[in-house]
Amino acid sequence: MSARERKFFVGGNWKMNGDTASINGIIEFMKPENLSDDSEVVVSPPTCYLQYVRQKLPVSIGVAAQNCYKAEKGAFTGEVSPLMLKDIGVNWVILGHSERRNIFGESDELVGEKVGFALSKGMRVIACIGELLSEREAGKTEAVVARQLKAIADNVSNWSDVVVAYEPVWAIGTGKTATPEQAQEVHASLRKTLSSISSQIGAQTRIIYGGSVNAGNCRSLAAMSDIDGFLVGGASLKPDFVTIVNAQD
Ligand code: PEP
Repeated sequence: MSARERKFFVGGNWKMNGDTASINGIIEFMKPENLSDDSEVVVSPPTCYLQYVRQKLPVSIGVAAQNCYKAEKGAFTGEVSPLMLKDIGVNWVILGHSERRNIFGESDELVGEKVGFALSKGMRVIACIGELLSEREAGKTEAVVARQLKAIADNVSNWSDVVVAYEPVWAIGTGKTATPEQAQEVHASLRKTLSSISSQIGAQTRIIYGGSVNAGNCRSLAAMSDIDGFLVGGASLKPDFVTIVNAQD
């Protein structure tokens, strides 16, 4: 299966940004007629705007939470459950983002458990992995992402509901993008790991790249055979996001 047989996937991670006025501006430039039919598009607003954005955007554009917990309900102050997300029409969730791992201390084990629980409740998951700069410099990139992917894979039975996002931590929000070759090398090794579960899982699972993707670098990254789309932070708040969604046109 070639990269283009896996539908190109572009996620917009708004992180903790935006207010009603600026979100209305994003909704304005996200008109379906601006976006390639060959790309699946999912945006991820802050929790308090999820329902608003879900109601405003056409159903052709997915909406993702930026996190959810591994329980249906209960005494977990500050958390939301997959059932609550589904109740408001939100079917996607980003899990294991490097900011969750590195600022909020989420372990590989917790990320894996959250992925398993969200999938068991019928959510679709953008599962994030990626190495720190110190790990890359120590030559540990492949080992780190393999370890993170294994913790996720141990909790996945249906890979068609999972998109893997490779996001080198040193490239997130820094303006330092991995070169297409650097990203391709890691994506190829991740695909090999997925293929060892089954050749079909390796061939069909989308592996997207994140880390300072912008309107200028998206086309050369999209041209790599194992890069099946992007997870975009900063540029997803701007009309540049439309160019990134259409990067393979
Ligand atoms: C992200 O938050 O997932 C991300 C890749 O951010 P940025 O595009 O701003 O580097």
